[in-house]
Amino acid sequence: MIPQANPGAGYRALKAEIDDAVARALNSGWYILGAEGRAFESEFAAWLGTNRAVGCANGTDALVLALRALGVGPGSAVATVSHTAVATVAAIEMTGAIPVLIDIDPSHYTMDPSELAAVLADPPAGLPPIAAVIPVHLYGQAADLAPIIATAKAHGAAVIEDCSQAHGATYRGGKVGTFTEAATFSLYPTKNLGALGDGGIVATSDPARADLLAALRQYGWRSHYISTEAGINSRLDELQAAILRVKLAHLDGHNARRQAIAAGYDAALPAALRPARRAGASHVFHQYVLRLPDRTRVQAALREAGIGSGIHYPQPVHLQPAYLGRVAMGPAACAASAKACTEVLSLPMYPELTDSEVSHICATLRTLFP
Ligand SMILES: *Cc1c(COP(=O)(O)O)cnc(C)c1O
Repeated sequence: MIPQANPGAGYRALKAEIDDAVARALNSGWYILGAEGRAFESEFAAWLGTNRAVGCANGTDALVLALRALGVGPGSAVATVSHTAVATVAAIEMTGAIPVLIDIDPSHYTMDPSELAAVLADPPAGLPPIAAVIPVHLYGQAADLAPIIATAKAHGAAVIEDCSQAHGATYRGGKVGTFTEAATFSLYPTKNLGALGDGGIVATSDPARADLLAALRQYGWRSHYISTEAGINSRLDELQAAILRVKLAHLDGHNARRQAIAAGYDAALPAALRPARRAGASHVFHQYVLRLPDRTRVQAALREAGIGSGIHYPQPVHLQPAYLGRVAMGPAACAASAKACTEVLSLPMYPELTDSEVSHICATLRTLFP
């Protein structure tokens, strides 16, 4: 069976380098917030093209830290999407703020800027002021940042890019994660840049904000044992940082391999089934997602041919039991998000897929969609 994602193959492909990095971290005698973490933060910031990056425990905490560093908490609302990893919405509630969910543009699966503008101009009754907007660059492709940032700015709301699925994607010539006050990345094993455990990082161009983020991730300390802010514990450990330094050096190559696999899938599919690419942006294919009214049949046929597939995600956040009936939404009531969740199907996508595996998947797609 060809799995849909394969973090073990990611380790095996870089085993010698990763094992060396792990041994170096273990032998250092320093396991939390040390030289590996500092080196990873500066290498990541240099790769992204931002001033600073602050590591933390996971992508959910990265959003919590970014929101808190921008002063968002109880008494604020935050606009994001329902078609995302539930973490985006969970993080907003972890700060004490209230989420308001905007529908997606169904061809790119990202925040609909016109509905965001409508909600900022006329927010749902009873909602506190919308202090921040979190567009999600879903599946490896940028949200339409220009109109999102323009409307947010016009209403005095901060913007945080959730880049957890789009490490290296670009929008109008710049990397995602460089356009807004702060940007967050999950480093979960299956992400385009993945640790072999949990990890996250927040990028910002503002050094004072980076210092605040670094304090907030460790009890609010700016010097040992003295909390100048009420912080949390969300640190990136040295083992994961050492592994991530190895992975980061391969990220651009891995993204190019994902794009080559996507081009192969494109060529095997009728034009109408190929995922839409946003003009002026580059897609790094965290997922290669088909939209199929008869998803169940296709998934079964792929399984029959030894090909795994995934559903990202089977339910939008507003329909999941923990959120149902209690989360504010824009006027579209997230109808396009709910519809997408019934039709999306993710094909196998990871850099270590072999050419013969890709050929087998393409041949199967050709028979399924002649
Ligand atoms: C993975 C992901 C997160 C959460 O990251 P964790 O590291 O699992 O906490 C947040 N947002 C999006 C869009 C994600 O894909």
